[in-house]
Amino acid sequence: MRTVRTVEELRQHLDQQRSAERTIGLVPTMGAFHQGHVSLMQHAREHTDVVVVSLFVNPTQFGAKEDLSAYPRDEARDAEIAAAAGVDVLFAPPVEEVYPAGFQTTVAVGALADTLEGLQRPGHFDGVATVVTKLLNMVGPDVAFFGQKDAQQALIVRRVVRDLDIPTRIDVCPTVREPDGLAMSSRNAYLAPADRERAVALKRALDAAAAAVAGGQRDAAAVAAAAREAMTPYGVEPEYLALVAADSLQPVDRVDGEVLVALAARVGPARLIDNALITTTNTTSNGRP
Ligand code: AMP
Repeated sequence: MRTVRTVEELRQHLDQQRSAERTIGLVPTMGAFHQGHVSLMQHAREHTDVVVVSLFVNPTQFGAKEDLSAYPRDEARDAEIAAAAGVDVLFAPPVEEVYPAGFQTTVAVGALADTLEGLQRPGHFDGVATVVTKLLNMVGPDVAFFGQKDAQQALIVRRVVRDLDIPTRIDVCPTVREPDGLAMSSRNAYLAPADRERAVALKRALDAAAAAVAGGQRDAAAVAAAAREAMTPYGVEPEYLALVAADSLQPVDRVDGEVLVALAARVGPARLIDNALITTTNTTSNGRP
């Protein structure tokens, strides 16, 4: 695996690969690798010839109250994990390579950013959309891989490439979980043992929502109430817990078609998010699909 720090070196290397007719896959990350990141690298390895992983803790997606400097960083460890996963290029640019002096052009996301995480983290998705657009322009990948763990981010990235005509396919890969169901996240490192046990509340809420729907419940408020109730024994309160249409992220009254159950909660010092897609088949009044 080769570690690259500049856009110029990256382009030189990838131009050679492209002229040899190799397809390029990109996995954008902020490092602190866990099995979720590794699964994206493996998907990329399976579907593209040259796998590029970007490692960049993007300052513009952190809010004023969020601690950018405390974000876990260990490039040497990450490089070992990426190499073992079969990554070809680790692109780890310094901040000034991505945001040169005088930088002043950004991508502004519309309504998809005005809900869920976007409400709690103003400006976050403009920061994400800007850096993802830049990374896609730097790498020029055939396919870029994102995790369903960050469902709103994945949807926004799909929207960005469509709206800005970026010729990259976006593949969204399933959420990788710990054995007890907790979604893997770099932020899980902030959890002390007692908080780690309580953190499973998020997955229990999603399971309760799915169970309510499987049991025939279609009223979104009732499904949300069942999900909230499942968190109570853990002493975890959701910051938000919402049932939204999977394509527009607008709230739904009924569970019909593809619905995303999305939630965020503080557990000790960590702010955790999780989500699940629930699909019901539409039925007509005579019961036929
Ligand atoms: P991050 O480094 O947290 O910005 O994440 C980089 C990529 O990994 C994003 O596309 C995330 O959605 C994805 N990701 C993070 N956690 C998981 C997980 N548990 N399962 C699958 N993908 C994940």
